[in-house]
Amino acid sequence: MAMSIKQQGWPRWPIADEETLEQLRLVLESGRWAISGPYTGEPTREQQFAEQFAAYNGVRWCVTLDHGTSALIAALEALDIGAGDEVIVPGLTWVAPALAVISVNAVPVFADVERDTLCMDVHAVEQVMTKRTRAILAVHMYGNMTDMDAMQALAEKHGLYLIEDAAHSHGASWNGRMAGSLGHIGVFSMQQGKVLTCGEGGAAITDEDELKDRLEASAWNARTRIAPSEQLLFPMSLDEGMPRFGTNRCLSEFQAAVLLDQLPRLDRQNRMREAHAGWLDHQCSQIQGVQVMRKDPRIKQRTYYGYVLQLDPQECPISAHDLIAHLQQDLQMGDFLLHSAYKPLYRNPLFRPHPRRHAIGAAYMEALQRQSGPLANCEYAYANSIVFHHSILLADQAQLSRLVEALAFRITGK
Ligand SMILES: *Cc1c(COP(=O)(O)O)cnc(C)c1O
Repeated sequence: MAMSIKQQGWPRWPIADEETLEQLRLVLESGRWAISGPYTGEPTREQQFAEQFAAYNGVRWCVTLDHGTSALIAALEALDIGAGDEVIVPGLTWVAPALAVISVNAVPVFADVERDTLCMDVHAVEQVMTKRTRAILAVHMYGNMTDMDAMQALAEKHGLYLIEDAAHSHGASWNGRMAGSLGHIGVFSMQQGKVLTCGEGGAAITDEDELKDRLEASAWNARTRIAPSEQLLFPMSLDEGMPRFGTNRCLSEFQAAVLLDQLPRLDRQNRMREAHAGWLDHQCSQIQGVQVMRKDPRIKQRTYYGYVLQLDPQECPISAHDLIAHLQQDLQMGDFLLHSAYKPLYRNPLFRPHPRRHAIGAAYMEALQRQSGPLANCEYAYANSIVFHHSILLADQAQLSRLVEALAFRITGK
């Protein structure tokens, strides 16, 4: 079966095969398509995945959800963050972290990023703290990491929660600990473009029992999981006794089956991405005006959601915008494979509070509007970065050489 055929010379993403299909068929035939379906004599796929993903990340608990955005909202709900609170988020990232904060009626406060990692800068976080700050929401941008020791120390010093958005970094590690396990709650997305995917999906991980219960309540309509030994008696798997707010953010058994199929492939794919990115770093940094991202030596396993290059506008005769357009042609890449960095959030048209739902007072709307930027490094990164999707790092050496040649030619004319 040709599910992994290459498109235009670049590896197809996501990668699935006969085995994936078999796992989906088994769910179809089992009659249990949802965690709230009838007991079939074995743990749900969802439960199996949650246990495997917790173990993979070296934490006690994983709660699965339907999206990464849901996982962010559930994390904020679990930490009782809401009206009157501020959460510090990076000024440049996907909109989900800021929208999740707005979803719980708290105010996202944007902090600038580091130019050479694109992750939120610890010093910038310190500068925007107020007495209303409750949490730091750090994103490991495109799989890179800032100084997480300093970020942890800062959160601890001020009594703040540290939430990690690890949607770009499944399988990364910092000083021997996995991305997502460094703060109070770590959040993942398993949307189609991510390095671990089931199309649409999410997860939140934590070491704390109480937070796990609250995350489950948020994810499962205020229900919690029944112990496996009791599942025969309560065939729906979920207990309705949780005294908290929650809504339905359940992952389906089909999605869990795909995740169970994909997780064992993750490390091998990440190692290949890391090796190829290392080679590209070496090649591309020799091209005049091209800068590669800095990697902290405490990142023991680096992952790549995007492979990022920056053009020094003083030294480069071509803008990042024009270079992207040329390379998309030269290398037969669409927008999915090559694009600019995220637009700074305060300028992003998607960052828009709902005029009724979030109109919880003039002071609140005013606080949101104050987040208008600009932040110098967010602007720099947006103007000067080019970002390749991680799947190109699974291409063969000949393909990657072609990429380096095209890049050098468009910049230097040679
Ligand atoms: C993809 C992503 C999310 C969550 O996305 P979903 O599409 O809701 O799964 C959250 N944060 C970042 C940084 C992301 O890139």
